[in-house]
Amino acid sequence: MIINIPPRYWIYITVLSGLLSVVLLGVVVAILLEEQQDTDEDVSVTEVARTAPDILVESTPSQTTVGSPTPIRIRVDDSLGLERVVVELGPRVVWQPDILPGQQVVRTTFPWIPDRPGTATLRIRAVAVDGLESEKIIPVVVAAAPEGGDEDREFTIVVQAGDDPFELAQGYGVCPDELIAANANLAAVAPGDEIIIPIQAGGGQPPPGGRPGPGGGPGGCELVDFRFQHPQIGIVAPEYANVFPINPRFGISRGYGCAVFFSGVPGTECPEDKPWFHTGIDVGAPPGTPLFTISSGRVSYAGPDETSDADCSEMRGSEEPHNGYGNHVRIQSGRYLFLYAHLSEIVAAPGDVYEDKGELLGFVGSTGCSTAPHLHFEVRRDNVTMDPLEYFESLEETASDDNDSS
Ligand SMILES: [Zn+2]
Repeated sequence: MIINIPPRYWIYITVLSGLLSVVLLGVVVAILLEEQQDTDEDVSVTEVARTAPDILVESTPSQTTVGSPTPIRIRVDDSLGLERVVVELGPRVVWQPDILPGQQVVRTTFPWIPDRPGTATLRIRAVAVDGLESEKIIPVVVAAAPEGGDEDREFTIVVQAGDDPFELAQGYGVCPDELIAANANLAAVAPGDEIIIPIQAGGGQPPPGGRPGPGGGPGGCELVDFRFQHPQIGIVAPEYANVFPINPRFGISRGYGCAVFFSGVPGTECPEDKPWFHTGIDVGAPPGTPLFTISSGRVSYAGPDETSDADCSEMRGSEEPHNGYGNHVRIQSGRYLFLYAHLSEIVAAPGDVYEDKGELLGFVGSTGCSTAPHLHFEVRRDNVTMDPLEYFESLEETASDDNDSS
């Protein structure tokens, strides 16, 4: 039998078969991609043997000149946590970033201005909490300085997650007040933004130990008014994921205790080079990020801060109500009080009783004395603040004791 197809139908048949083959190709590609993803997941589940800290040089110039600011970006990872990361040039320690307890990832831009031509050999050493150590050498060719001389100059750095702009500036001998003067929008700086590092004639050489002290310390920097609260955008991988008040992928941006720069209260027991006292931990996160109970307890207060006379209505980034902790929640659990501050919205109501951890009590905001959305979280034992990380650790010990006895 012969089917006689009129010529105009051939056009439809051609178009339809073309479409069909495109769809089939798409299905095949989708299946292949899915298999690829499955493979990736399998790899991440595989147990990895304990290895020394991993040092990665993320950016380094192969060549620079005497007197040129030469930022070198490094990343150090250790699954158990890092004790110390040091950059040395010959016998001299030229950079040593601050490390929080339990910190597993250190990303820092090491500021450096070569002072002599030749090949400079920088040595990065990383020590984990269990003493395991690793080392990496970065050779950089330094050319002689071009004609010109010593004058004021500035250069820009692209800020990345893990950088602390004030730490970067200090590394070049630039004081916080000078950094603030050169960068109008410092409080809102985010990863990917450029900041200007203004170096004055005769300055710029990293001081011994890497940084000048604030407030009349060895570097002679002015103490700036830290009602302006600088954004520490460091990323910390917390070990306390199962007891964290917020999704732990938002790392701790500022720890508990005496601090170099902070908007809070001067600490009576703090050393001169870390004069401010931070009564909790800060976790930077987008507004609206949910916050959770970390234990059972009763809501003793939920609402604006009516006791603080710290009025931050002029503070850039602060949202209403502008006083102190802003919208906050206090939960009492035996001897312990947990305080969640700067919320955009509160779900908990006074008198509510939470039976367990992991229950929703509100959302991240920037109310009160806050320049950017973050959770300020405090733990008080018998009405005295303590390091929340210590509290988390005590929970983990209790949990493992329970496991042992069962
Ligand atoms: Zn805080």
